[in-house]
Amino acid sequence: MSEPFKKPIKIVQPLLPDLEDMDQKIKEIWDSKQLSNNGEKVVQLERRLANFLNAEYLSVFSNGTLALQLACRVLELSGEVITTPFTFPATVNALVWNQLKPVFCDIEEETYNIDPDKIEALITEKTTAIMPVHVFGNPCDVEKIQQIADRHGLKVIYDAAHAFGVRHHGKAIASFGDITMFSFHATKVYNTIEGGALVFKHPYLKERADQMRNFGILPDGDVLEPGTNAKLNEVQAAVGLLLLDKVEEEIRRRKEIAATYAEELGDIPGIRINKPVDGLEYNYPYFVITIDKNEFEISRDVLYEELKAHNIITRKYFYPLCSNLQCYKDLPSADKARLPVANKVADSVLALPLYGELSHEEVAYICRIIRESRL
Ligand SMILES: *Cc1c(COP(=O)(O)O)cnc(C)c1O
Repeated sequence: MSEPFKKPIKIVQPLLPDLEDMDQKIKEIWDSKQLSNNGEKVVQLERRLANFLNAEYLSVFSNGTLALQLACRVLELSGEVITTPFTFPATVNALVWNQLKPVFCDIEEETYNIDPDKIEALITEKTTAIMPVHVFGNPCDVEKIQQIADRHGLKVIYDAAHAFGVRHHGKAIASFGDITMFSFHATKVYNTIEGGALVFKHPYLKERADQMRNFGILPDGDVLEPGTNAKLNEVQAAVGLLLLDKVEEEIRRRKEIAATYAEELGDIPGIRINKPVDGLEYNYPYFVITIDKNEFEISRDVLYEELKAHNIITRKYFYPLCSNLQCYKDLPSADKARLPVANKVADSVLALPLYGELSHEEVAYICRIIRESRL
C-alpha cells in the first residue's frame, strides 16, 4: 500500500507575491499615507488589469460577490433572472440580495455550463437577464446566449469568477455580455487576497458602479441612489499588482500539471476528463474529473474518502447543487426533475489539487492512489 504523505496535499494554494517585493510596496503605501479610497495603487491596478484582460471599462471591488450584486444594480434588473444551479452559492445569493428571483436552468454534461438550448423555455414576461457562469474557466456558449438575449431584450451578466485570463477564439472572455465579474479571492488563479472586478460594455455602467461602491456618493457630494462600501484597499491592490507579474507563469505551470493528470488518468475506465476545445485558451483553475460509478466501480464519494485517508484533499465542487440548498430548494425551478443533468454532474465531479507549486511527485502520488482505489 502507498504510504500517505506526512503533510496533507491541499486542494489549493494561493499565489503569493515575493516578500521583498511586498515589503517595497508596503513602504510606498506607508509613505503615501493613503490606505484606501481610490488610491494610487487601486488606480494603477485598474489600468493594468484593463490592459491584461483587454477590457475598456473595468473597476475593482472588495470581493466578487459585492461586484456581482452591484452589476445587477447598475443594470436595473427586476423580476426573474435565469441562472445555473451548478455554481458557488454567491452567484444565486447576489440575485436574491437584489430582490431578484433566480430561475434555475439545467446544464450541459460536457462543459458543466448552462445549457443554452434550455434557456428560452424558462423566459417569462418577468425575465430581465441571464446570469451564466464560465464554470471551471470553460467558456459558455457565448454566441448562442447573446442571440437569445437579443431576441428577448435581456441583459447578460457573466460570472467569470473562475475565468481570469481565458480567451475565446482570440477574444478576451470579458468581451461577452453586458457585464463580466471576476473574483480575486485567495483561492482563485489570480488574487488580491479578497477582491473582484467588473468589466462593463458601456462607460456609464462603470461610472455608476464606481459611485455605488463608494456609498453612492456623486462628485458634488450628494447621494441619489444609496450605494454600499465595496472598495478595494491599497495593500490588496499592491498584492494584485505584484501577482499580475506572476500569473502567466502560474497558469503555464498549472497547464503542465493538468497535462500530467490527463495523461495519467485519461485511460482509466469510468473517469472522464474534459478535452481542450480548439480555439479556447484556458487558465486551469481546477482539475476536475467526472466519475462514472458503474464503470469506475466506486462512487465519487468513496473516492473522495479514499483520497482523504491518504492525506489528499479534494473537493466535491459544486456539491451540493445550489438548487438543493435549504434556501433555494423550494423554488419551482429547483425541482430535481427539471435539472437532471446538473444533479447527475454534482454527484459525480471531483476537483483534484491544482496549483503551480504542486510537485511532480505529488501529482504522481495522487494519480497512483486514484488508480489503486478501484482495485
Ligand atoms: C469564488 C466565486 C464567487 C465569489 O467570489 P468572491 O470574490 O469570493 O466573493 C462567485 N462565483 C463563483 C463561481 C465563484 O467561484
